Amino acid sequence: MVGAGIAGLTAAGLLAREGLRVELLEAHHQSGGCAGTFRRGPYVFDVGATQVAGLEDGGIHQRLFRHLNVTMPAAEPLDPGCVVDLADGRAPVRIQRDPERWRQERQRQFPGSERFWRLCEAIHQANWAFAAREPVLPPRSWWDLGQLLGALGIGNLLSGPLTTASIADLQNLCGCGGDQRLRRFLDLQLRLYSQEPAQRTAALYGATVLSMVQEPLGLWHLQGSMQALAEALEQGLAQAGGHLRLRHRVTRLEQAATGGGWRIHGEAPGRPGFVIEAGEVVMTLPPQSLPALLGSQLPSGYRRRLEQLPEPSGALVFYGAIERSRLPPECPSHLQLDWHEPGPLFVSISQEGDGRAPAGQATVIASVFTPARPWFASEEPDYQDRKQSAMAAIQAGLKQLLQLGPEPWIHQELATPRGFAGWTGRPWGWVGGLGQHPLRFGPFGLASRTPIPGLWLCGDSIHPGEGTAGVSLSALMACRQLLQRRGRKLRIDGAASQT
Ligand SMILES: Cc1cc2nc3c(=O)[nH]c(=O)nc-3n(C[C@H](O)[C@H](O)[C@H](O)COP(=O)(O)OP(=O)(O)OC[C@H]3O[C@@H](n4cnc5c(N)ncnc54)[C@H](O)[C@@H]3O)c2cc1C
Repeated sequence: MVGAGIAGLTAAGLLAREGLRVELLEAHHQSGGCAGTFRRGPYVFDVGATQVAGLEDGGIHQRLFRHLNVTMPAAEPLDPGCVVDLADGRAPVRIQRDPERWRQERQRQFPGSERFWRLCEAIHQANWAFAAREPVLPPRSWWDLGQLLGALGIGNLLSGPLTTASIADLQNLCGCGGDQRLRRFLDLQLRLYSQEPAQRTAALYGATVLSMVQEPLGLWHLQGSMQALAEALEQGLAQAGGHLRLRHRVTRLEQAATGGGWRIHGEAPGRPGFVIEAGEVVMTLPPQSLPALLGSQLPSGYRRRLEQLPEPSGALVFYGAIERSRLPPECPSHLQLDWHEPGPLFVSISQEGDGRAPAGQATVIASVFTPARPWFASEEPDYQDRKQSAMAAIQAGLKQLLQLGPEPWIHQELATPRGFAGWTGRPWGWVGGLGQHPLRFGPFGLASRTPIPGLWLCGDSIHPGEGTAGVSLSALMACRQLLQRRGRKLRIDGAASQT
């Protein structure tokens, strides 16, 4: 198993619990990947992910923790899930957790759009029931196809014809396509989860993302830090008898000459040039890493497919600390601002006593997507100049959003795609998977079953996509396929149907 982010930890725990001998190899000195944390003096910063879906009863993380016999990390539901400032001088949109309060809020903010929201909710209900029946997407074998067909239900009759539609198409269909304020709101929210604006986000994916905050689902803020999620999964893996090898960087995957299986080459302190033999490999790195790891063993058609994948985004992330008294009263913990330069900001603010900052202070994290490659093109000191200007521009946005005075930040630093490449080992520091364009999501996406026997993929480039809940679902799917090849069936209990 390669990579101990949330996908790798989940897959490793599941397979170890089935009695397989599991070695999880992680390049970094800690697990968690994009959902990990780092410490600066008294502050703990969540590196990437700051909020978690799937902790509700029947949610994927909750089911996995129960299956792995691990106590779920303490978490608070986000209410409001997010406060979205469209920077148009009007009151920000509060995405309420309570469905009725959210209905009132959206009717106030976007009059005439209720049919659109109702249609999104209906699609979401159908999606949810479909997901609970654990389809395999996209199918690449008869068994996969059987799993997909078996998961189809009556709700898919409604949603099926919308497979190639975008969220903007739904807006037009419901007669509110001309509402530019609604479009800006949708663009902001969807870019966060699908890497694409409304016009290029698959309707079947976007409808679920737009319904994620409300009960009985929800988004959650972890007590302590995001690392709590990885730590709980680590515990599940250890209890099941699996091994996590930190500081073990995989450099090459070699198919064994005889008898199937793999020789995994890598580097580790005290073990330069280690080789581990394995029957199967589950890869959680972005699939764009495969050409470098497999070299000429990669079938040419598959190599072309990987080369033709659209280039994902990178991220700029500002990590700051501030006196809490400088924040507006009752400041929500998650906000978005439609900001011009370097782009729309997604902001997460620690809560008093949540383990991220000393009493009376708060951590403020602001992230924005950015094209990744240009950050590798400039040499020092140009790179540092670019970084300083990006940080100043993000701070200007935060000043407006949080009505901050002139006092300096107690702590400030910026991560660029270069930093993410170093931290996560992702090519060009890419984050967030392949995007959820109608031509690339679900049935049209990259499969967890590769054409190379014994090599499986999971993580945020595989269905259902990015986010800790998404990558856990992809890990479950890959494990079910791997075990089915061995004549075994993997079931985890408790997929709740949403009512
Ligand atoms: C700025 C930002 C904000 C985000 N916000 C949210 C959010 O609020 N909520 C949410 O749910 N999701 C969020 N996400 C997305 C979420 O963090 C990811 O989709 C998810 O954590 C990816 O998990 P993964 O296991 O697929 O990949 P990763 O987390 O990238 O894990 C891969 C692991 O593989 C290791 N690795 C890499 N190369 C090698 C190698 N050669 N050998 C061995 N190990 C290797 C890495 O060190 C890493 O630990 C955010 C992401 C970013 C970047």
